[in-house]
Formats: sequence, C-alpha cells, structure tokens
Amino acid sequence: MTDQMRTAQPTFDQVPETGQPSGGLSIDFSADTGAVPMAAAATPIAFAPEPATAPGGPGGAASGADRTEAKVVIIGSGPAGLTAAIYAARAGLEPIVLAGSAPGGQLMITSDVENYPGFPDGIQGPELMALFRAQAERFGSRIIDVDVERVDFGSRPFRLWARGVEYRAQAVIIATGASALWLGLESETRLRGRGVSACATCDGFFFRDKEIAVVGGGDTALEEATFLTRFASKVHLLHRRDTFRGSRIMVQRTLENPKIEVHYNTVVEEVLGDTKVEGLRLRDTVTGQERVMPVEGLFIAIGHRPNTDIFRGWLEIDEKGYLRVEGETGSQIEGVFIAGDVHDHRYRQAVTAAGDGCKAAIDAERWLEAQGVVTASTATAW
Ligand SMILES: Cc1cc2nc3c(=O)[nH]c(=O)nc-3n(C[C@H](O)[C@H](O)[C@H](O)COP(=O)(O)OP(=O)(O)OC[C@H]3O[C@@H](n4cnc5c(N)ncnc54)[C@H](O)[C@@H]3O)c2cc1C
Repeated sequence: MTDQMRTAQPTFDQVPETGQPSGGLSIDFSADTGAVPMAAAATPIAFAPEPATAPGGPGGAASGADRTEAKVVIIGSGPAGLTAAIYAARAGLEPIVLAGSAPGGQLMITSDVENYPGFPDGIQGPELMALFRAQAERFGSRIIDVDVERVDFGSRPFRLWARGVEYRAQAVIIATGASALWLGLESETRLRGRGVSACATCDGFFFRDKEIAVVGGGDTALEEATFLTRFASKVHLLHRRDTFRGSRIMVQRTLENPKIEVHYNTVVEEVLGDTKVEGLRLRDTVTGQERVMPVEGLFIAIGHRPNTDIFRGWLEIDEKGYLRVEGETGSQIEGVFIAGDVHDHRYRQAVTAAGDGCKAAIDAERWLEAQGVVTASTATAW
C-alpha cells in the first residue's frame, strides 16, 4: 500500500451496505436528480421522430434540460455508461443517462487507480469518474441520478421507468455493472480503500512484501490468492467451510503454493485498525474460538452480483446472472445494447468497460442510422 493510499480520503467516507450497486453511495455529484415533476409521467409523451440535435463538439448543449425522451438512453454511469455517453453525445444523439443510485459506479469506492491509461501518477477513483462525467456532460448528455426500476423492451420506442417518470428511447445501452459482494461488516466498510479491497488485479500491487488475507472458497478466491502471491510475502486464505468449491486444478495449485496458508472453518468477525487494516479478528466455525491475525490487507473474493434484475424476462441471463451478449455489444432485442461488467465476468476492469461503452455507442449509432432514426449528417466519423 502506498503512503498516498494510506492517507487518501476519497470523497466518500462511510459506504452504507444498501444492497445497491457498489454498496450504494452517499455521494451526489449532480444537481440533476431527475426531479421531473410527477405530472410529466402522466402526460402522454409523443416521441419526436427527429428531435432537435445539438451539434457535437465543444460547447454543444443538449436541448430541453428536462427532456424524458431520447434517441439513446444509457442505463448506468460507471466507466461503460459514461464512455457510451461521451461517444453518443459527440455523435449528436443527445443521450439521457439514467445514472443509478451509485453514480460513477464501482470506482467510487476505491482510492488509487494506477492502471487507467493517461494517469502516470495514478488518480483517485472518484476523481476519475468526476472527469468522465464532466466530459459526458460537456457534449450534451443529460445525466440523472436515478435507478431504473422497470423496462418495457416490447416495442419501440423502448420505455423505462425511474422514480415515477417514464423515459422513452429508440435505442438503449445497458451498462449497469456488477457489484462486488462484501461480508457486510461495519469495519470492512469503514476500511474499504484503506486495505480492504474486492479487486486483486486492481489493488494487489499495493501489498508488495506485506502479509495479507483473502476470503472465499470458489475459483475466484483461489485465483486471487494465487495472483496475490506475486506481491505479498504471505497470503492467508480464509474459508468458512472445510472443503473448497473451486475446481480441482485450482485447489491443487493453491494448496501447493508455499506462500499460501489455508485456514478452513474460519470467518472474519472484525477488521481491525482505525485508518488502515492492521489485523483481523477471526472465529473458528467449529470450536467457536476467536483469535487475532495480524495482516495489512484483506481481499474479499466471495463473488459479484451483476445488476440484471430489471432485464429478466426481456434479455438472456447466463447461469452466473450476467447478461448474454450477441456479437460484440448486441442483445437478443434489436436496438438494445450491452456494455461493461454487466456482461463481463472475465476482465472486470475500468478500461475494458470504457472500451465496451465506446463500442456500444458506435453500434447503437450505426443501428439508429440503419433504422432511419438518425441521418448520415448526425452520424459522426468519431
Ligand atoms: C474495490 C474496487 C477497486 C477497483 N479498482 C480498479 C482499478 O484500480 N482499476 C480498474 O481498471 N478497475 C478497478 N475496479 C473494477 C472497475 O471498477 C469495474 O470494472 C468498472 O467500474 C466496471 O464499469 P461498468 O461501467 O461496467 O460498471 P460499474 O462501475 O459497476 O457501474 C455500474 C453503474 O450502473 C448503475 N446502475 C446499476 N443498476 C442500475 C439501475 N437499475 N438503473 C440505473 N443505473 C443502474 C450504477 O449506479 C453504476 O453507475 C475496481 C473495482 C472495485 C470493486
């Protein structure tokens, strides 16, 4: 962990466990809360086939600050959603972004991001996402911090409902991400980004020559523990059962790794430390005995929950709960596109999510052009 990480005070402090994406953030970094008067929902909305289009480019402003219909509605405001917004806005599509109750997405709950290109000294997660958002707004995206509660993809315009307001779109880009699962301890929440993490690829580097612990028993936990031995002096793998759920090859590799010590029947009761992780209070699930383990880092590897509930019945969801993609960014419904962690359980990185958002926006724009919704003049050479 760098000194910067130890002292870093991201703009969030306590992240309440709300069951919302990314733990539910208390941050609100937009004045636009989607407070479209309820009456607007009751008023029949006539979808204009060719709404006025703001010119893309610096200073281009979207028309109608409280509009509820757009050529493209983007659901989610993590790296995927906001990158899609930047591209769609620059193509003159005047997107509406329904940003969710965790505006900025997963990076809002981490401190140092050192692997996002363009920031040689690293950048704080919330700061990076504020820049994404400013860039999307600069080109005329309307961003509203509301959760979409229901969708109707049965016909076009597609319809989406959030806080009693109905939104309509000729194309939709889904970028609702996936939330890392946490243990739900107050001490774990308090020390997130200060030694507690849910992403070994992202944060392993900070634990060079440190003793750390990983919680979990599936393939992800075994892979993360093995990966972390590249940095840590020792990795304690804490598993609440007496056998692993992971694949045989991963279990064998883990057990043979001299830097990994496995602790079966062990659960974390408390993460110790005021401003950074200093240890764990553990409980043996068989004997009930408690003990303290001094470690400087804790990685939670108990899985992710993709935010796909509202799409059930409309789109295909795989056995792990992720949306199934057709081709690059397509879905089973023409005009509905998918980007980022909501479908990707392989890479799960900000840069791959952003790349996906770019692809989805380009695909949506070309599709709208093929439908005659946008003309070649609004299509951009990117
Ligand atoms: C602790 C931690 C540290 C990380 N560190 C790094 C790192 O250093 N580098 C890196 O590259 N990656 C890192 N990652 C991974 C990275 O954050 C993700 O890969 C990336 O954020 C995925 O982007 P996304 O846009 O697909 O989804 P998310 O970032 O998950 O964003 C999802 C968005 O969808 C919204 N949403 C969800 N449901 C709804 C709904 N019903 N209606 C409207 N909106 C909704 C949410 O509000 C949120 O805005 C880290 C992840 C974690 C958890």
